[in-house]
Amino acid sequence: TVNRVNKLNRYSSSVNKYGLQFNEKLMGTGKGAQQEQLVDANHDGKLTFDEIVQVLEFGQSKYNSSSEDIVEENMDFYREVYSKKVTEPKFAKLTYNVVYDETGLKRVLTKDEYPRANATMLTLVRNKELKAIVHTIRQIENTWNHNFHYPYTFIGDEEFTQEFKDTVRRHCSGEVYFEIIPPEIWNKPANIDPEKERAGIQKLIENGVQYADMESYHNMCRFNSGWFYRLEGLKKFKWYWRFEPNTDYYCSIDYDIFKFMEDNDKTYGFTISLYDDPLTVETLWPVTLDFVKKNPQYVHPNGAFRWLTDSVQNPEYTKLANGYSTCHFWSNFEIANMDFYRGEAYSKWFDALEAAGGFYYERWGDAPVHSVGVALFEDKSKIHWFRDIGYHHSPYKSIPNSDKCTAPEDSGYFAPEDVHRQNCLPNWIKYEMTHKELQQY
Ligand code: GDP
Ligand code: MN
Repeated sequence: TVNRVNKLNRYSSSVNKYGLQFNEKLMGTGKGAQQEQLVDANHDGKLTFDEIVQVLEFGQSKYNSSSEDIVEENMDFYREVYSKKVTEPKFAKLTYNVVYDETGLKRVLTKDEYPRANATMLTLVRNKELKAIVHTIRQIENTWNHNFHYPYTFIGDEEFTQEFKDTVRRHCSGEVYFEIIPPEIWNKPANIDPEKERAGIQKLIENGVQYADMESYHNMCRFNSGWFYRLEGLKKFKWYWRFEPNTDYYCSIDYDIFKFMEDNDKTYGFTISLYDDPLTVETLWPVTLDFVKKNPQYVHPNGAFRWLTDSVQNPEYTKLANGYSTCHFWSNFEIANMDFYRGEAYSKWFDALEAAGGFYYERWGDAPVHSVGVALFEDKSKIHWFRDIGYHHSPYKSIPNSDKCTAPEDSGYFAPEDVHRQNCLPNWIKYEMTHKELQQY
């Protein structure tokens, strides 16, 4: 199996020039220099599996203390990238909801005429969040879905009230489905040791970890990590766009985003990338490395290894998380192909995560789980940063510099200064995006 990985063609042919210059500046003083050498010495594109593991284990052996300077340098880079005016992605194929007749006259396709991708808008939500979810549906409709009328699936762990159903239906321009999670999927599984769980939760509480002793939150994270796409009502769909109550969408999008994903061979799309609280994922990386070493065939040779193991901006996070940078795509907005999760690599790995029990002994989030999965087992070129989707979930924003967005003058704003350290998008851009990809908007 190691040989199979060796034979695949790969990796650092896609290292971007801008990224390298920037990295030298950051890393030339010894911070991360070892990893830098390892990756950049392989410009012929031949990393062995052992070398991949060396990169993945990098964070376990090498830490330095990071300074405010590094955070600010990365924020400057972020603002510089965001200052670029963007419109639509410059991809070969974008699909709109219009046709032209023989005389060249443009006609907007109706809900019944437009051929949609196999996709659903998707949210896990509670009855008490009705107002907050309507707030977000209205924005999704106004900025995008009024063109395409994609269906919505509302998932609950309890029956939705008639008021909830009637109200959301009034705001959705597509079909509406309600799906209730069977208790045997939602509830804590039997393999969780109550003593070990109590001790784990106690440690999280002592360290001030949010939601530590809220069992439903642990259920939610586990469900969103590895179960939602197995629900009866979800089996018929391939693509989903996850949205959450009280989030905001700032930009008009004219093309079909699901077809964009499909036609351009993307697996996963995101807007915001963050660091996580390392105490919530202390053993996620060791469990994952153990799995990877036993199952090297699942690791994609063009994985996003450096983003996963970065230890420059927040070395103490990487240390506490035992080698995982804690960088992830923020999953309260995400667009992805569920067949990826349903596939062998993610499924087998998820079984290993379930066996390890970290959804309850720690507080593994669905964002780091999706992110580690897609970054390890998928080609990073299939992970798309949506530069044209303006998005807000408190306290973070992504505001494109685009005439299609409200307040483009605020582009490059991320969050209050005291949480700038949490921004991992600069790493994604520097380490994992090619020069070509940076030019695609
Ligand atoms: P945060 O963003 O991590 O602070 O967590 P949220 O409270 O926003 O929860 C994440 C998502 O899961 C939101 O869409 C919530 O509506 C949903 N959610 C969280 N807990 C529950 C729950 O117990 N039941 C249901 N049905 N949805 C939940
Ligand atoms: Mn939320």
